[in-house]
Amino acid sequence: MRTCGDCTACCEGWLHDESLEMEAGKPCQHCTSGGCAIYDNRPEEPCRTFRCEWLKNEEGFDDEMRPDRCGAILITDRPFKQWDVIRVIPVGVSVPNPTLSKVMHHAAETAKPLMWTERRPDFADHPMEVSVGSAGPEEFTIQMKWDMRPEDVWSYSNPANG
Ligand code: SF4
Ligand code: SF4
Repeated sequence: MRTCGDCTACCEGWLHDESLEMEAGKPCQHCTSGGCAIYDNRPEEPCRTFRCEWLKNEEGFDDEMRPDRCGAILITDRPFKQWDVIRVIPVGVSVPNPTLSKVMHHAAETAKPLMWTERRPDFADHPMEVSVGSAGPEEFTIQMKWDMRPEDVWSYSNPANG
């Protein structure tokens, strides 16, 4: 079974979590260069329960897709409305093209809808402002375009070092 190894991407502020006061440009207060400073006492939610898709899906994604290597965190356990969607969250401003290509290929093969976000270059001053891209069934992309609210974007707000 995969382990996080040296990756701490989900603690570094690329995911939004109110309880840990974490947002883009602002890592969790317990995140250090040596890992989690309170690892043995880290909260159950979100820290002990969160597992990104790379950690869970060894068959679907190779080692290069570890978030700290590929520049994106993949999340699959937070649906958007009725859709079992793959969310791609950049570790930085945007998802690197080779990573997005790989995820698009995977989404097409598994027939899953896909959404990815891009931040403003000055995201530290505007952590909640993102643009959203999508791919998949037409019904899904239309719903994404017209029915999505800010809370739909941020409903993946769970970090942790599993
Ligand atoms: S769960 Fe977090 S620390 Fe572990 S591999 Fe995924 S992003 Fe990295
Ligand atoms: S495991 Fe949780 S408490 Fe520890 S650094 Fe990561 S987000 Fe913070």
